[in-house]
Amino acid sequence: MDSTKFDFSTRAIHHGYEPGNEQGSLNPPIYLTSTFAFDTAEEGGEMFTGEREGHFYSRISNPTLDHLEQRIASLEGAEAGLCAASGMGAITSTLWSFLSAGDEIIADKTLYGCTFAFMAHGLPRFGVKVTLVDFTDADNLAAAISDQTKVVYFETPANPNNRLVDIAAVSEIAHSVGAKVIVDNTYATPVITRPIAHGADIVVHSATKFLSGHGDVIAGLIVGSKEDMTHVRLVGLKDMTGAVMSPLTAMLLLRGIKTLELRVARHCESAGKVAAFLEAHPAVKSVSYPGLASFAQADLARRQMAMFGGMIPFEVVGGKAGGIAMMNRLNLITRAVSLGDAESLIQHPASMTHATYTREEREKHGIAEGLVRLSVGLEGVQDLIDDLQTALNAHNQFAA
Ligand SMILES: *Cc1c(COP(=O)(O)O)cnc(C)c1O
Repeated sequence: MDSTKFDFSTRAIHHGYEPGNEQGSLNPPIYLTSTFAFDTAEEGGEMFTGEREGHFYSRISNPTLDHLEQRIASLEGAEAGLCAASGMGAITSTLWSFLSAGDEIIADKTLYGCTFAFMAHGLPRFGVKVTLVDFTDADNLAAAISDQTKVVYFETPANPNNRLVDIAAVSEIAHSVGAKVIVDNTYATPVITRPIAHGADIVVHSATKFLSGHGDVIAGLIVGSKEDMTHVRLVGLKDMTGAVMSPLTAMLLLRGIKTLELRVARHCESAGKVAAFLEAHPAVKSVSYPGLASFAQADLARRQMAMFGGMIPFEVVGGKAGGIAMMNRLNLITRAVSLGDAESLIQHPASMTHATYTREEREKHGIAEGLVRLSVGLEGVQDLIDDLQTALNAHNQFAA
């Protein structure tokens, strides 16, 4: 069956798998095996040199992962995909594959906490120059870029504050010096934005989040050209990080991705209502949601996003103490890091996911101390609004 012409959800359910090839099994079998038998010793040798195709060791490839790799590549509109053990495994395996001592990476100034730590404290130890600039104005990248720049890296929307980056504008500048553009698409998912279509070369994901959608795995995915994915597979993933996904995890992701479009649509619909509610509440100081008319980059959001996402960063009156007190008054919304799950989750970036930045770095990088980050789940939206309202109404009296 050629599924390439099908709709997004059809491919999310069928692409890359034929039940007839697996005794009619509706779902792909879980190939829980580390190694694969060779018919002859010569055939084994040929697989190691790449003369013969086939699976020979699950750190390099595995049939269950293969289905997932084809599926995510199709959904992102890329040639090829690759699985990794975590989002950080995907990010580091990719960057180790393309950077050497003496090279430069230029990244946007707002990054997920552990990605920031890898850039600020990891890569420089190995002689890679790391430059962080504000990509919301692409001229900043144009001013910083040089022939030394091998990779340009960013998130859009960025974790935790939803800043957007114009993928096409940044890609054009990066490509003028031959740099690779790597986009972390964890927040948007391919339902909302497909960065390859806007000019990016490689997309990385924390599949722990919306792609899995059920809070039961840690996982990463990567997509790009066949050539780039083979390079990351055989260099960064195989020899440098070894951050390989388990076939059990691949099965859970294949299951989660079947409902990705449905789930993301619901996350977005509810988040739009919750964002409007928050913005109107007197105890809320500011809300940064791409679907709001007040959003600083509303035009870019409409150009680059099919929907506006499930994440709402906001600040309540009273700064950090106010935010923490409000969080502690919630009954339904769960105090936890991570995002994109069926359960609504709320966390405080400055003390949690972005505690890898110093206070001074957070100030420089635009991550407010009082910011709280809400991942709007799939519960009934009125129940979520009621929970927030109770917490905020009490807060209002307390603050006033
Ligand atoms: C969570 C997250 C990561 C890291 O992913 P893990 O699966 O936790 O390793 C990377 N980027 C973004 C934007 C994230 O939200």
